[in-house]
Amino acid sequence: MSKEAINADLLSLCKRRGFVWPSFELYGGVAGMYDYGPLGSNMRNNIVEVWRDIYRGREGFIEIDSETVNPREVFKASGHVDEFADLVTYCGECESAFRADHLVKEFFDNPDVLSPKELDDAFVKHEIKCPECGGKLGQVEEFNLMFKTAIGPGSSRVGYLRPETAQGIFVNYLNLYRYNREKLPLGVIQTGRGYRNEIAPRQGMIRMREFNMMEVELFVDPDDKDWIRFREIENDLIALVPNTGTDTVTMTVGEAVEKGIIANRVLAYFVYTTQQFLTRLGIDPERLRFRQHLNDEMAHYAMDCWDAEVLLSYGWIEITGIADRGCWDLSRHAEFSGTELTHFKKFDEPREMEVDKVKAKHKALGPKFKEKAKTIAEAMEAKRPSDIKDGKLTLDLDGEDVILDGEFFEVVRIREKVSGERVVPHVIEPSHGLDRIFYSVLEHSFKHDEKEDYTVLRLVPDVAPIKVGIFPLMEKDGLDDLATDIYKRVHSPCMEAYYDGSGTIGKRYARMDEVGTPWCITVDYESLEGPNKGTVTIRERDTTAQKRIPSDSVPDILRSLLSGMSFEAL
Ligand code: AMP
Repeated sequence: MSKEAINADLLSLCKRRGFVWPSFELYGGVAGMYDYGPLGSNMRNNIVEVWRDIYRGREGFIEIDSETVNPREVFKASGHVDEFADLVTYCGECESAFRADHLVKEFFDNPDVLSPKELDDAFVKHEIKCPECGGKLGQVEEFNLMFKTAIGPGSSRVGYLRPETAQGIFVNYLNLYRYNREKLPLGVIQTGRGYRNEIAPRQGMIRMREFNMMEVELFVDPDDKDWIRFREIENDLIALVPNTGTDTVTMTVGEAVEKGIIANRVLAYFVYTTQQFLTRLGIDPERLRFRQHLNDEMAHYAMDCWDAEVLLSYGWIEITGIADRGCWDLSRHAEFSGTELTHFKKFDEPREMEVDKVKAKHKALGPKFKEKAKTIAEAMEAKRPSDIKDGKLTLDLDGEDVILDGEFFEVVRIREKVSGERVVPHVIEPSHGLDRIFYSVLEHSFKHDEKEDYTVLRLVPDVAPIKVGIFPLMEKDGLDDLATDIYKRVHSPCMEAYYDGSGTIGKRYARMDEVGTPWCITVDYESLEGPNKGTVTIRERDTTAQKRIPSDSVPDILRSLLSGMSFEAL
């Protein structure tokens, strides 16, 4: 089956069976927007649960949920207002918009690093015209991908829909740090919508304008980029495409760090965790690789970055980015908000060090503030030099702001024993695109037998939107009562069951196979009388093997199968 046919078949299945629907079809649709139907919503939630199991369950990270509309200041500090742009060209005739780098991709290995001028030149050199109408393309210009809005009436406060969930975690750093009892490492996760006004989304769920993310921000000591569990996985294999070449090399995670290919152990651990996560969802390991960003491809915030890429009908596609963001985000938010965002790192033993201190100028304070001078001097000396803004210190004295300039204080360097120092944590970020993962899982699970014209989605049970189909052979003679009773005992949010009493059994199996249901239970006449009374058949999707099991044990057996027991063990 050709790649295009797989893609078309899968998208049609998604629409027909209620996985995803193009949004606003009633009004002609909007490119790059999709709604999740009942099966898609179930499956998407299941993917999120596997992610939570790893990060909250295994790693003990905490989860938050922050706002999707943010004031401009947040994205000015993060760099998105100035940097988060793609290059666009408009056709001079039909006015269609195109991502300029996409139009030259057959001539360059990495077209997204080209400047507007280089792209203009490339259009001339390679005689590139408008793909829609053959018209002349206009000058390439920057287009910021954030959706702009106003917070409140009028345009007094500019806001943006967040292009990533990460900033909601960074701006909450102090709350999170306090919650974590001022300790590092501090791992925080968030899932939710991200918005990017993509120029010309033409690749189905791969490029959406409103999409779902699962982001992890791990704050670590910048001098200790290790991970406690690294030893457990250092001998495991991973397929890497380092930025020194274009070949995939398979090596152990330990080797990748020793050879300096992945910058540090904590980043390597989470690159590997991403491999564990994706393969647990049913991504084919043979069609998964981790590609390191080239230096000029790296986002404005990243020190080292790896993309998890999967091979799809669209080619190799990034579905997760794992970046070492260094101290970029916290330093920028500290600078723009004027608030220190640091971690106090305690030394094992107090150390004698040179430190800068704020010292009150008592001679100037006394005549001006009289009896209050002593209190002001104490409050002043409790401040840090980093609290001085534009040469001034602001003190809170009984709820009243007192602003003092350099006439009343100085910064002196002294030697003293200190118990620790303040450092800006570094951030390791595995950022997952949920919709791309969702689509990739579907494509890697999709099996179509052309001869039989039969489709099976081989979804892993954890991800499958329906876990079990429950059928009475006929909807009469009490078969339907027993099937309904089993359905009622089985069905729950973690064991989604589907009752189907219509059509031949073959057709009902086919309907369940097509949406990836791993098991089906059939109630037949033997269930009601004869030597097999009290039993039902259970069928396994991938082998089509069938066994008889006691009908009373159906819920327990399904739970065991879902926890990983093999079908043969029944
Ligand atoms: P980024 O912050 O660009 O590294 O994006 C993080 C992840 O979000 C990517 O690995 C993608 O899986 C996903 N993603 C980014 N842009 C889109 C989009 N327009 N549509 C769907 N998913 C996206």
